[in-house]
Amino acid sequence: MKIDGKTRICGLIGNPVEHTLSPMIHNTLAGILGHNLVYVPFCVEEGKAAEAVAGAEALHILGLNVTVPYKSEVMAALEEIDPLAQAIGAVNTLVGTEGGFKGYNTDMEGLYRAMTGEGIRIEGEQIILLGAGGAARAVAYLCAVKGAAKVYMLNRTLEKAQAVAQEVNGAAGREVIVPMETKAYADLPDGQYLAIQGTSVGLWPHTEDTVVAEENFYKKIHTGFDLIYSPWETKFMRLVKAHGGQAYNGLKMLLYQGIIAYELWNDVQVSEKDAKAVYEKLCGHFRRQE
Ligand code: NAP
Repeated sequence: MKIDGKTRICGLIGNPVEHTLSPMIHNTLAGILGHNLVYVPFCVEEGKAAEAVAGAEALHILGLNVTVPYKSEVMAALEEIDPLAQAIGAVNTLVGTEGGFKGYNTDMEGLYRAMTGEGIRIEGEQIILLGAGGAARAVAYLCAVKGAAKVYMLNRTLEKAQAVAQEVNGAAGREVIVPMETKAYADLPDGQYLAIQGTSVGLWPHTEDTVVAEENFYKKIHTGFDLIYSPWETKFMRLVKAHGGQAYNGLKMLLYQGIIAYELWNDVQVSEKDAKAVYEKLCGHFRRQE
């Protein structure tokens, strides 16, 4: 990598940021595409997200990703917000414009590209969505927008699922999201479901945890998609597979949310061949860890 007077800077703001894989995604893409661009993580202290955005603006930083805990907080500091990100209530990508940064949410489209790439359909599907946090809220929007038949949103805290359902159903103009308490999963209508695991349960190092332990639950799932990618295979995924379903982790979602951000910053289209090369590099990182 050659850094000179014309090198453009992109980065990630969040806290913590030490374990992020985003630099690998963006610096690999810059290398493949021959862009004079470098991507670095910035750990931002609590209460300083707006200052970080103002500083990035002054430095003419090309673009930023935003991660936990600033995806909503940062919105007040932006010049403009994409309507989809506004509806979701969270941004994960900032693009430099004349007057300041414009915020986008590429998590949702990233998940959609990852799912369609695996041949997973949302349209017309009966879906179980585990969780009602920031990520699950974006997934609920995605399912509503892409024509899911019904989404049963199971969350430990029922009120949070009810609040998301009210908002998404209002925006969609139909009662597509059905909020439920996770422990009431036995009340799910009979049938076969696509299940999207959007809680933080099962994240490394708590690899033996899963939000529903009861094995019968997994008999209802034909396909399980866990947003978690560390560990490579979560307990949720293992249980789905043990009951005959297909299971996927969230690494491709991470890959595509990054690729879409890169496309926005550089006004390019990343080919599937280049996406695959970045994915292989990410997989290599996990193989080295095992
Ligand atoms: P969040 O806003 O903090 O939400 C956490 C969710 O997990 C809530 O629904 C919460 O339920 C539930 N939860 C936490 N601990 C629980 C427990 N012990 N038992 C039952 N439920 C529990 O987090 P987030 O930002 O939505 O992220 C969720 C997951 O998605 C994380 O693992 C994150 O790594 C992953 N993610 C992946 C990608 C990707 O690119 N692959 C992108 C974004 C997020 P309550 O509401 O009851 O507290």
